[in-house]
Amino acid sequence: MRTPRNDLTQLSCGAQLDLTVLRLPQTSAQLTPEDSRFVTLFNALPGLGFGSTFTKHLVYFDGPVAQADLCGQGASLASGFGVAAIYVQACSGAPSSVIAAHELLHTLGAVPRGAPHRCPDAQGGHTCDSASDLMHPFLDASPLDAKLLDPGRDDYYGHAAAFTDSQDAAWLVQLDRQQPFTVTISGPGGVTADMPGLDCAQSCTTTWNTSTRLGLTAVPRPGAKLVRWSGACTGASTCVVTVAPGAAVSALFAPALYRLTVGVSGQGAVRTSGPGITCRPRCSAAFPSFVPVGLTATAAKGWRFRSWTGACRGTKRTCTVPMTAATSARAVFARA
Ligand SMILES: [Zn+2]
Repeated sequence: MRTPRNDLTQLSCGAQLDLTVLRLPQTSAQLTPEDSRFVTLFNALPGLGFGSTFTKHLVYFDGPVAQADLCGQGASLASGFGVAAIYVQACSGAPSSVIAAHELLHTLGAVPRGAPHRCPDAQGGHTCDSASDLMHPFLDASPLDAKLLDPGRDDYYGHAAAFTDSQDAAWLVQLDRQQPFTVTISGPGGVTADMPGLDCAQSCTTTWNTSTRLGLTAVPRPGAKLVRWSGACTGASTCVVTVAPGAAVSALFAPALYRLTVGVSGQGAVRTSGPGITCRPRCSAAFPSFVPVGLTATAAKGWRFRSWTGACRGTKRTCTVPMTAATSARAVFARA
């Protein structure tokens, strides 16, 4: 079971198909000849802001036509960018819904080389075994629900052979293979995907075809950073995840820096690890968040280290603070 993954836009009346009107830079005369019109349309769309490799663009071309029986054309690039054009002023007898479905199937790879009923080369990309097939090269006036989608299921849709099967196209929602996918976000940041449909400013659940591969990017707010991914991803770089039952990811964000404040009671000093600071008797500095900092207490002459208070505990001279929040600690020295 498949249905198109439609590009929706939020309007006051709810989510609706994302439609727009485009005016091409070419003149009507330039667009009239059929031998160059489709290539011109195809190449013009990206420059007009419609170049997504995730979108098959359905274009209703309402300019003059020279050839009244060429109803439309459709093609895609390997990148995924595709155009299905319907020539509104041609083919007055054929329903535009049939033309749209036919051209969209072209953008989804129909009819592939290797299909047993593929037409000879002049009409390649079509099937020639049944005039009722939606991908037959010649359309009649019959409505969309009278058309058949690859009768026999052997040429372009739902077949068992190795050549392209439009049924598997990523542009179709596989209604019987839907899988929710949860991104849990903690702290100041959001998560986006390399595919439209996941752009989460806070924890979110989206639904995908099972086995969809998503490249997730963590987007920290200004002054913040990604601490780490967890769940299906680890580390703090990009996260590539395959949507499957039980697959989920979490992203932990934090302010890039946390303040560490160290105090001293009595006579002595505390030094922090790394390119550290010495606290005598008190200091405060910003440290990268979630990067542990070591503290070492050293008594002054005639004094001894007694214990820590605050984020450090115990009587050992050294202590490590995790810096998972603003932190303060105090070293207590007593007379020897
Ligand atoms: Zn065709």
